[in-house]
Amino acid sequence: MLKVQGVTVKYGGLTALDKVSLEVEQGELVVLLGANGAGKSTLFKAISGLNKVQEGQIIFMDQDVTGWSADKLVRHGVIQCAEGRQLFAQMSVRENLVMGAYVHRRHKKVVEECLSYVFELFPILKEKAADLAGSLSGGQQQMLAIGRALMGQPKLLMLDEPSIGLAPLVVQQMFATIQEINRAGTTVLLAEQNAHAALQVADRGYVLENGEITLSGTKKDLLNNEEVKKAYIGA
Ligand code: ATP
Repeated sequence: MLKVQGVTVKYGGLTALDKVSLEVEQGELVVLLGANGAGKSTLFKAISGLNKVQEGQIIFMDQDVTGWSADKLVRHGVIQCAEGRQLFAQMSVRENLVMGAYVHRRHKKVVEECLSYVFELFPILKEKAADLAGSLSGGQQQMLAIGRALMGQPKLLMLDEPSIGLAPLVVQQMFATIQEINRAGTTVLLAEQNAHAALQVADRGYVLENGEITLSGTKKDLLNNEEVKKAYIGA
C-alpha cells in the first residue's frame, strides 16, 4: 500500500532523513521505533505531504504521490494523527470529530456513520460529546485525536506517538484499541518510543536512528533483538 523509497528530507543544512525506505502492506500494523529526534515525525510529515522530499519517492496504492499536497493526500486516504494531538480545545468533542470529516462534509450520512463508529470504539467520547475538548483527560484527548483522524476514513492511518504522556494502564488500552482499528481493516503505521507496548500489537517494525533505518523485522525479531531490548525496552 505504501512504499517509501530512498527518501531524503533536509532542514537547511541538517539531513533529518537520509535515504529512508520502508513498506507497509495493506492491512498491516507496522511500527516505526526511534528515540527523540530520530526523524519519526519528519518521515510522517513527508508521507503526509507536510515536508518537502528532496530525494526519493513515496508510492501510495501504486501511485507516485511524492510532492502531493497534504489536502490531496487526505482525500486519498492518507491521514495522520500528529504528535501532541492538536485538538481545538475550545470546541466540543463532537465538533472536533466533525472537523475530521471535512472531506466528507457534503455527505451527511457518511459523517453520521463515522461518528457512530468512533463512539462505538470510544464510548467515553459519546458520553462527553458536548464537553469542551480542552476539559478531557490526556488519555481522552488522545482518543479524540485518533477518533478525529478516523472521521476522515483513512486507508492508511499514521499515528505519531499516541502513548506520549499517558499512564501505563491507559497506554495498554490505547494500543488494544489501535489493534482493534487495524483488525477492522485500517492499515496502520505507528511511530513510537514505547517499543514494548507497540511491538505487542504490531506485525512488523522498523528502527529509525539519526535519520536512517538501521533495523527491520517481524515483531518477534525485534522483541528478541539485543539492540532493540537495550535501546528501547530497557532490558
Ligand atoms: P520526537 O519524538 O522528539 O518528535 P522524532 O523522531 O519525531 O522525535 P523529528 O521531530 O522528526 O524526530 O526530528 C528529526 C531531526 O530534525 C531532529 O534533529 C530535529 O531537531 C530536526 N527538526 C525537526 N523539525 C525541524 C524543523 N522544522 N526545522 C529544523 N530542524 C527540525
